[in-house]
Amino acid sequence: MSEVKGKVIKVSGPLIVAGGMSDCKMFDVVKVASSHLIGEVIELRGDKASIQVYEETGGIGPGEEVVSTGAPLSVELGPGLIESMFDGIQRPLNKMREKGGDRIARGVEVTALDHDKKWKFNPTAKVGDRLEPGDEVGYVQENVLVRHSIMIPVGTAGELTEVYDGEYTIDEPIAKIRTDSGEIKDVIMLQRCAVRKGRPYKEKLSPSMPLVTGQRVIDTLFPITKGGVAAVPGPFGSGKTVVQHQLAKWADAEIIVYVGCGERGNEMTDVLNEFPELVDPKTGEPLMKRTILIANTSDMPVAAREASIYTGITIAEYFRDMGYNVAIMADSTSRWAEALREMSGRLEEMPGEEGYPAYLSSRLAEFYERAGLVKVLGQTGKTGSVTAIGAVSPPGGDLSEPVSQATLRIVKVFWGLSASLAYKRHFPAIDWLQSYSLYAGRMEEWYDQNIGSEWNPLRKRVMAILQEEAGLDEIVRLVGMDALGAKDRLTMEVAKTIREDYLHQNAFHEIDTYASLNKQLRMLKLINTFYNLGLAALRENVDIEDIVELPVREKIGRAKYIDEKTEMDKFDEIEAEIKSEFKALIG
Ligand code: ADP
Repeated sequence: MSEVKGKVIKVSGPLIVAGGMSDCKMFDVVKVASSHLIGEVIELRGDKASIQVYEETGGIGPGEEVVSTGAPLSVELGPGLIESMFDGIQRPLNKMREKGGDRIARGVEVTALDHDKKWKFNPTAKVGDRLEPGDEVGYVQENVLVRHSIMIPVGTAGELTEVYDGEYTIDEPIAKIRTDSGEIKDVIMLQRCAVRKGRPYKEKLSPSMPLVTGQRVIDTLFPITKGGVAAVPGPFGSGKTVVQHQLAKWADAEIIVYVGCGERGNEMTDVLNEFPELVDPKTGEPLMKRTILIANTSDMPVAAREASIYTGITIAEYFRDMGYNVAIMADSTSRWAEALREMSGRLEEMPGEEGYPAYLSSRLAEFYERAGLVKVLGQTGKTGSVTAIGAVSPPGGDLSEPVSQATLRIVKVFWGLSASLAYKRHFPAIDWLQSYSLYAGRMEEWYDQNIGSEWNPLRKRVMAILQEEAGLDEIVRLVGMDALGAKDRLTMEVAKTIREDYLHQNAFHEIDTYASLNKQLRMLKLINTFYNLGLAALRENVDIEDIVELPVREKIGRAKYIDEKTEMDKFDEIEAEIKSEFKALIG
C-alpha cells in the first residue's frame, strides 16, 4: 500500500480539494489534517483530488496534510455485526459516543467490529477438505437467532490443513489452508470488503418465490419476491414507519438491514429508540437480534449519508452469501439523493433535472441491482437473497419529481402510500389503484403449488372488483347510487368488504397484525363465495337489499380476527352459513 501525501487547497463544506494527489486512485479513502477526518476521493483531475469528507470540515484550511490509505471505502464483516448500530461508514454509534460524547466527535478512530471479543468458533469443515471461496469453515452462534457462517474469503482456495475449535477474536486464525501454489494461509473470521462494488456470487437467478409479509394488501395484491426490489413513497403521517416495522417484524427474511437517512434529527433518533424495542414475533426475542441498523443522524455530514446505502447493501450481501434471505430497507432514498445533489453541486458538475446530477438514475440503479436471488459462491450450490425496499419521500407527495421517477423506472413493486387513505384511517394506506407488482405473474406457479389453485384466480378477481368499483364510483358521483343496477350495487358492496375488511389491517391488533397466505386464501374464499351466491340470487330475482342485509356479512367482516393457530375450522362454519343464508333467501 503506497502512501500518497498531498495538501488541502480548498474547503467547501463536505468537499475538500487537495493537490499533490496524482498517485492516488478514484474512491481511495484518505485522512485529512491532523484530526484524521475520513474522506473518499470522488474526482481526480491532474494531481488534484476532490474528496468527500465524512465528518465536519470546520476549522480545516489550505495547507493541511491529506494522506491516502490506498484502499477503497470498505466494511468489516464478521461476528459482531448483528445487533449493531453504525453510522454511514460503519463506525459503531455507541463506541463513538463513548469516545466522543453526545455529539459525534471528529476523527474518532474506532473499529467497526470488536477486535478484542472472543467468539466460540465451531468448525464444520475437516482437515483434508478442499475449500473454495464462499465455502463454510465453521460457524459462530452469534446469538439465539443467528448462526454466523465463517466463509472462505474471495482469493483463497485450497486444502484445509488445520482447523481449530475454541474461542477466538476475529483476527486470530481459526484454520489454515494450503493453497494450490503450496503456500500455507491463515483463515481468520474477519473479512474486509469494498462497499461500492457488489460481492461476487455464482449466478443470478430469476426470483419466483414471494417474500411473505403477512400484510394482506401486499401479499395478495402487490407481492414482492425474495430478491425483489420495491419502492414505497411515504408522505408524512401516511403510515410509512408502521409499514416498515411490520415488514421488519413479519417478512420471512432472516436478517434485516435498516438504513436510515433522516433529515430532521428526531427522525433517526426515533428509529434508534424504536427498533430496539421491537419484538420478533416468531421467537419472542428482541428484533435487534437479527437486525443491523445504519443511521445517519442529522449531526452527521451529508457525505456519510451518500455512503450509507452502500455500507448497508454490502452487509446485506454478506449475509446473503451465508444462504440467508435478507431484507434491506433504505429510508429514505430521497434524502440519499439530496446528499448526492449537494456533493454534485459542490463539484460544480452540470446539473440535471431539479439540480440532481445526471447520474442520479444510474446510481439508484446500481444500488437496486445489488438486490436479487443468487446462487452463492462455494460448492454447496445454495441460494441466498437480498430484497431491497426503498422509501422515497417526494416533497409534497408529488411523484413526478426526479427521485421518484428514477426509482419507479427501476423497481418492480410500488406500494403507493396515500395521504388521503391515511386521513380516512384506512391502514395500511397502500393505494390499490395506484400500486403495482410486476412480479405477480412469475410467482403464479409457486402459489399454485404451495397455496392452492384458487389463489391466482381469486387474486385477479379481487383486483378486477376494485377496478370496477372505481369506475362505478364515478357514475355514483355523477348520478347517485339509485342509478346503479342490482348487480353493480352488489359489486360495490363486495368491493367495500374487500377494502374495509380485507385490505384494512390493524398492525396493533394481536391477531390481525399478521395473516398467513393460507388465512388470506380462506378470507378471500369467503368473500368470493358471498359474491358468487349473491350474483346467483339476483338471477333468481332476490332483492339486493335482502342480500346486503344478510347477517353473515358481519362474520365475513370479522374473519380477520380468527386465530389461525386454533380456530381455522371457523372458516368452514362461516362458509356453510353463507350458503345456508342464501338458500333461505331463494327459498
Ligand atoms: P409516517 O411514518 O408515515 O409519518 P406512521 O407510520 O408513524 O406515519 O403512522 C402514523 C399513524 O398511523 C400511527 O401512529 C398509527 O396510529 C397509524 N397507523 C399507520 N399504519 C397503521 C396500521 N397498519 N394499523 C393501524 N394503525 C396504523
